[in-house]
Amino acid sequence: MSRFFSAEYSSLAPYVPGEQPRDKKYVKLNTNESPFPPSPKVIEAVSEETDFRLYPDPECRELKNALGAALDVEPETVFVSNGSDSILSHAFAAFGGEGIAFADVTYGFDSVIAAYHGLKTRVIETEDDLSIDPEKFMGLGCAAVITEPNAPTGLCVGVAAIEEIAKSSPDRVLIVDEAYVDFGAESSLRLAGRLDNVLVVRTFSKSRQLAGARVGFAVGSKELIRDLETLKFSTDPYCLTRQSLAAAKAAIEDKDYFERTRRAIMDERERTRVQLLEAGFDCAPSMTNFLFAKHPGIPGGELYLGLKDRGVLVRHFTQPKISDYIRVTVGSRGDMDRFLTEVGALAAAR
Ligand SMILES: *Cc1c(COP(=O)(O)O)cnc(C)c1O
Repeated sequence: MSRFFSAEYSSLAPYVPGEQPRDKKYVKLNTNESPFPPSPKVIEAVSEETDFRLYPDPECRELKNALGAALDVEPETVFVSNGSDSILSHAFAAFGGEGIAFADVTYGFDSVIAAYHGLKTRVIETEDDLSIDPEKFMGLGCAAVITEPNAPTGLCVGVAAIEEIAKSSPDRVLIVDEAYVDFGAESSLRLAGRLDNVLVVRTFSKSRQLAGARVGFAVGSKELIRDLETLKFSTDPYCLTRQSLAAAKAAIEDKDYFERTRRAIMDERERTRVQLLEAGFDCAPSMTNFLFAKHPGIPGGELYLGLKDRGVLVRHFTQPKISDYIRVTVGSRGDMDRFLTEVGALAAAR
């Protein structure tokens, strides 16, 4: 740390992203990226968007119109920015004045952003099975964020419960982080159209093959969206490049490719889960593109290292409540065969 670093930031513990290794080639199942390349239409759109002399449209109108059409919402109720992480950051800053609540087991970035903005936090304990009891989120009197389906557990609270939570604190914003919703869960999008305190946040990173293009979006009341625009235009109005805007527009318009790829991932998820259960693992059903699994005889850290040794990279979290688990991204059939072979060998060696 330099002696110039502001005191308010000196105790920040930044988010630790999943490894992006360069030492050797791994089967990479650690950051929930898609095993599929972007749609050919995305590649085409990007290769046509090369006029880098000009700034991109800071209002992102074309992308908002495309999202509005695809989601059947008004473009004025859509916010876009460079990744949903940045949207969460704007939303926490905008609506977290009275503090922000989130589960103890959830997306690790939530606590980091809260600390960055100096917000009071309220940590809600998950149950023994790592599910969220909606009652504990009711009437809190501060903003809240629920990751739905939750990460890294893959579990859902359900839209009915989310509606009750939102209604229990009508004067506070409820942020619903739907990074994984395209893999089988029900969305709170319609709720965001009816309740002015619900903001749904989504990303192109997980289900639309664009993690490297950095595009996220949010849907909420026109007023909520305007607040987010105020913060975006106060920090980084050109945060989406021309190519990222073009890529995202083409991705949202190619519905066939989206359907095909998410189906394939959900099918592969189910096949992998059955085989993990057969190999003696605990693994709850997942509504995401990852599985959260533990073995009764092998600690999570050991599984992680054993798999890494064998060329398969998964994610392990040291947080005590979940340190027995590994989180495994659902990759291609070939990736999952390899994972199952290696993890099966580790389990059999016990
Ligand atoms: C991956 C992820 C994000 C971040 O997505 P980006 O759009 O790539 O910033 C947000 N929330 C959760 C729960 C995620 O897993």
